[in-house]
Order: sequence, then C-alpha cells, then structure tokens
Amino acid sequence: MGILPSEMNADICVIGAGASGITAALAAYWRDPSLKIVLVEEKERIGQKILVTGNGRCNLSNRTLTLDSYNEGAVRYEPVFRKSMADEVLFARLGLMLYEDESGRFYPYSNQASSVLNAFLNELNRTDIEVRAGSGVTRLEPGKQGIMIGFGNGEALLARRAILATGSPASVKSNRSEELVRQVGDRFIPFVPALVPLRIRGEQFRSLKGIRLKAAVALQKNGKTIRLESGEVQFGDGYLGGICVMDLSRYVDDGDYQLSLDLIPDRAKQGIISFLDASCSRSSNAAALLNGILPRRVGELLMRSMFPDAFSMSAGSLTEEDIGMVADLLKRWIIPVSSRCPMSQAQVCRGGVDGLDGETLSSARDPRVFYCGEIINVDGRCGGFNLHWAWISGKAAGEAAALSAREGIYE
Ligand SMILES: Cc1cc2nc3c(=O)[nH]c(=O)nc-3n(C[C@H](O)[C@H](O)[C@H](O)COP(=O)(O)OP(=O)(O)OC[C@H]3O[C@@H](n4cnc5c(N)ncnc54)[C@H](O)[C@@H]3O)c2cc1C
Repeated sequence: MGILPSEMNADICVIGAGASGITAALAAYWRDPSLKIVLVEEKERIGQKILVTGNGRCNLSNRTLTLDSYNEGAVRYEPVFRKSMADEVLFARLGLMLYEDESGRFYPYSNQASSVLNAFLNELNRTDIEVRAGSGVTRLEPGKQGIMIGFGNGEALLARRAILATGSPASVKSNRSEELVRQVGDRFIPFVPALVPLRIRGEQFRSLKGIRLKAAVALQKNGKTIRLESGEVQFGDGYLGGICVMDLSRYVDDGDYQLSLDLIPDRAKQGIISFLDASCSRSSNAAALLNGILPRRVGELLMRSMFPDAFSMSAGSLTEEDIGMVADLLKRWIIPVSSRCPMSQAQVCRGGVDGLDGETLSSARDPRVFYCGEIINVDGRCGGFNLHWAWISGKAAGEAAALSAREGIYE
C-alpha cells in the first residue's frame, strides 16, 4: 500500500500525540511500515503530559489490573484488555526496562517519566511517521473521498483513516474532544472530572492545609456507605485529596456526600481507649492528648471540636465517657463533602465517546474513524490503570486502522 490518490495526504492521521496517540501511530506503523502516517498535535511538543504523570515517575501500568479497576463502560472493550494485558511487550519493544513496586504498580526502571517519553521519541525517529506539532484540529468531516481534517491555522489534510486521541478536559485549559466526536456523529457521554480532590464543608478544615494522614475512608451518600478505600489523604485549601480520596471521587455525583475517616484503622476501639487512658497523665492539657498519635494540628482540632476549652482543661479531668467519645471520633471522623473540585484539578475524566466496536475501537457511525485513550468512556482508579488503557487502546486502534487501510475495507 502507501500509494495515495494525489489529493490524499495520509493513509492514517492520528489526532493528538499523547500517550495513546503516539502508541496508535507506532502500532499502525509496526503493522505496516509502508503506510503514510501523520501524527498531529496542537501543542508545540508531543507527549508532554506523560512527563507529569506519577509525580514525574510515570506509573504506567499495574499487575493487579482487572476490569473492576475501571468504570462499567470498560466492559464493552474487554477484548482489547484481554488481547493486550502483556503491556511489557510494548515497553520491551521500546527498550524501556520496568520495575514493579510492592503494590503491583509499574514504573520505568529509571524512575523518571522522561525515560518513557524519550523511548517513544527514539522509536518515532526511527520511523517514517510524520509529526506535525503546533496546530490543533478543529474540524473533522468524513466524506466520500476520505476524512477531511481541518486545523486551527486554516490548513487541511485528507486521510483515509483517522484516529482520534485528543484526551479529555482533565487538567488542561480547553479541549475539543466532545466537539470532534459530535462532528463524526458518535454517541457522547458528557465529561465530568474523576480522580479529583473533593471540596469539603467547614472553615475549620482550612487550618489543616498541607497535612497528610493515613486513614481508612468511607464515602457515604445520604448517610450510607457506598465505597471504602484506604491510604493517604491530603488536606488542601478547602478540599481533601490524596490517592484514596481521588479514587472515591469517581463515585461522587449530585447528592449529600460525606467522608468518614477511621484514623487508626488497625486498632480496635478498646485498644485506643487503653492508649488514651495512659496518655492522659502525660499530656500537658486536653488539647495535646492526641499528639502522640496524629499530627498536632489535627489532634488539636479534633479535641477542640469536642471540648471547646481543651487548651485550658487538664487531660486528667477527662472522664471515662469523654475518652470513649474521643476514641469514637478517631474511628469515625465525619467530613462533609460539598462537591468535586473542578476539571483543572482532575487527573482524568468520566464520560467520553461511547458505543464503539469492542475490539477495533472503530466508530459506530463511520468505520474509517477510530478512537483511543481517555476520549473513550473508560476511566480507571489511581495506580497506572489510566495509562495502561492509553497504551492498550492506542495499540488496538492503531493496528485496526492499519489493517483496514491496508485491506481497503469500507473504501
Ligand atoms: C497530573 C496527572 C498525573 C497523572 N498520573 C498518572 C499516572 O501516574 N498513571 C496513570 O495511569 N495515569 C495518570 N494520569 C492520567 C493519564 O495521564 C491519562 O489518562 C493519559 O495521559 C491519557 O492519554 P491520552 O493519550 O488519551 O490523552 P492525553 O495524554 O491527554 O493526550 C491528548 C493529546 O492530544 C492533544 N490534543 C488535544 N486536542 C487536540 C486537537 N484538537 N488537535 C490536536 N491535538 C490535540 C493534546 O495536546 C495531548 O497532547 C495522570 C494525569 C494527570 C493530569
């Protein structure tokens, strides 16, 4: 193949050069190097988001992955997950060594996200894939001759196949994914932030800004527990973040939500009471009672919430009943949630294009259009699951687009 009608500029145009788009372009090239593949990116440089993932370390996959790690939308794409679980194959091919931490999370051996991007850039340099960076796609017009792809700078490109890999509005200023999907005519579920900190109600919590704690956290809706997670929580200015809160945020919609924190999940109430009884004689005042267990600001806030005079009370004056109440609070500290934080603070989005072919990720409206990555209605928990989806969906869409372009299917 690779012989194009004179007006045709590409066999395959991949729109968006993030984790999934770069993978899709390479997968298409590996499948058939004779295809003319163009990878377009609106920013000046490609793959930049990869550099900020995993706090600069890029948590790129997870050993413990199952479909339960994702939203219900992922079930449709089970064949893609089944085919591509061995993602090490992709990274071995790129010459990238991985390591696995104690929780099954995979990282580059160098512990630097830049190694992941460099591995992709090196491989792209070895191919004939044309990279066009610096102008975004604003128009997508599937027509008889091919798919007309229009850019913000007025240029256009005609392609036989298009792969949309433009991600979501999470953490970026603006994003046209929804608009482009609607131009193709596919079903779209509106994006909402997921993996995002939760805004909390109560001025008193602002004094805890910057504090990190380990806790078992229950997300409650209308007083009923709907989800449990444990791990680190982190107080921000009027919000609560940290991995376990971000994971819980995927289950927050409209309604009355609260977080119930167990601050000492590995101890039963009676053990905590015995510990507190012994601490009473050592504490300078009641406000200081929890200083041996929690960061000082948290301990004082908790004690003052029960005993407004905690700073002037002696800890020894606390009754058996008081100590029982303190132990209860440590096991069940209720923090009311007012909403999710905005899109700019989200790591991924819920929602996206829906109803694609479960194996090839091709459009339900036009089989010459494919999708991959976060633009699809698949979102996962923290721990490498979202990048895993970006790689495997990119690989699936790239291979399927190459096959369909080579065989002239639906020409
Ligand atoms: C701070 C942060 C940390 C994260 N850490 C992790 C982690 O450790 N592990 C993990 O699994 N996931 C992590 N994620 C999520 C992960 O980064 C995303 O799920 C993943 O990058 C999605 O890949 P994608 O290719 O679909 O989209 P993106 O990576 O967003 O790439 C889309 C690309 O398309 C370009 N584009 C958009 N619109 C257009 C257009 N109209 N024309 C041309 N180009 C366009 C964009 O500029 C971008 O380069 C993190 C996310 C954030 C924000």
